[in-house]
Amino acid sequence: MICDKFKDECGVLGIYSTASKNLARRVAFGLISLQHRGQESAGIASYRDGKVYHYKEMGLVQDVFNNEILEGLKGHISVGHVRYSTTGESHVSNAQPLVIKYRGENIALAHNGNLINADKIRDKLEESGSIFQTSIDTEVIANLMAKNYSLGFKDAILKTVHEIKGAFALVIICEGKLIGVRDPNGLRPLCIGKLPDGGLVLTSESCALDVVGAELVRDVKNGEMVIIDENGMESILYDDTQPAAHCIFEYVYFARPDSVIDTVSVSSSRRWAGKLLAKEHPVEADIVIAVPDSGIDAAIGYAQESGIPYGIGLIKNKYIGRTFIQPDQETRELAVRLKLNVLKETVKGKRVVVIDDSIVRGTTSKKIVDALRKAGASEVHMRVSSSSVKYPCFFGIDTPNRQQLVSSFKSNDEVKEIIGADTLGYISVEGLLESVGKANCDMCTACFDGDYPMDVPEEVNKNMFD
Ligand code: SF4
Repeated sequence: MICDKFKDECGVLGIYSTASKNLARRVAFGLISLQHRGQESAGIASYRDGKVYHYKEMGLVQDVFNNEILEGLKGHISVGHVRYSTTGESHVSNAQPLVIKYRGENIALAHNGNLINADKIRDKLEESGSIFQTSIDTEVIANLMAKNYSLGFKDAILKTVHEIKGAFALVIICEGKLIGVRDPNGLRPLCIGKLPDGGLVLTSESCALDVVGAELVRDVKNGEMVIIDENGMESILYDDTQPAAHCIFEYVYFARPDSVIDTVSVSSSRRWAGKLLAKEHPVEADIVIAVPDSGIDAAIGYAQESGIPYGIGLIKNKYIGRTFIQPDQETRELAVRLKLNVLKETVKGKRVVVIDDSIVRGTTSKKIVDALRKAGASEVHMRVSSSSVKYPCFFGIDTPNRQQLVSSFKSNDEVKEIIGADTLGYISVEGLLESVGKANCDMCTACFDGDYPMDVPEEVNKNMFD
């Protein structure tokens, strides 16, 4: 693993427009802006004359698609997906959108999230004769839809989303309509945009709306299904009984800073978190630097609040592929050095506050602290703009198991010793909630406090330092 972070899940995008000449090209552009949510595979499916045409392959969006492929994907509805595997192996057979044919109807499905009851449903379906061609939980959704299809597409989807449990933001092409569904807790984001030509867009993050030329209209509500066709958009609130539990890590790390999620600007929330971090963990120092990219806004906030100047102290190499990185210790160490380098003149002889968005295993933090000292920093104070991560995620984020989360079994003082910092401070969960303006707690904070919004499949014991 090149970087000691939680891994993004997936990104989805769907557009309905009868006016656009090449929707697939627009979707490809939008997918590039969602590339941070998944770099393993990319795919697009488009609807034309009653049929769905699709193409998907392993790799980055720019490497997967060319003009010829996009020409073949013309249509007035188009959905796309970028993937990082959370369930199912990293193989093209598991790439999305998933396209199935059922009773003459072509259905394309793109999913961001993770189902916690997928295995159970899969077993049941297989017992009753269903055949699966992939190992992803999205195929469970597709199979349930097919099983319920005699009810008509709308009720088939509604029955399906009542049977599945977990995190899901779905964009679907079915019967010449573009459909979006968000899980009842709203764990994963999904928003709606409008194109100048009247077309409508569904996507994981609003940064993709900016790229495809759409205005943000609103977020898909928790437990809402929207159906878009030539008549406009129909909204069905299929489940409003669950408490909101939007993933707070979207603001900390996953989402792009230029996105607005559930009405909150990601960049502003990160700056605010940095300010609160400075209030909660002040320190005498000469310079504040960030671990790029997601630590930058928080570092600016910390500098503004503390009055300590902000400087660029770590340079990130953005052009590192994943494929040639082997998971052995030597290569991992090389990879960290390749990914981040210290700007020596910024830190030499200085007391440095370094802001990172999270500490997961602690291995990268240790290397950063070591590198800063080697470059001449006289003191290194690590400040973290998330709370300490103690519990794994079951909702579409790839996290190590609990034993590998350093804060799960070490106190903050011990983590400080492990990473070699002079001091260490994390923002509190309350501070983090305040930074996204949700002090009333309609967020999922389970990876910090183990308070999952639904029963999770593993025994998760309370942390020994709680
Ligand atoms: S457990 Fe953490 S990463 Fe997973 S949905 Fe909740 S806040 Fe997000």
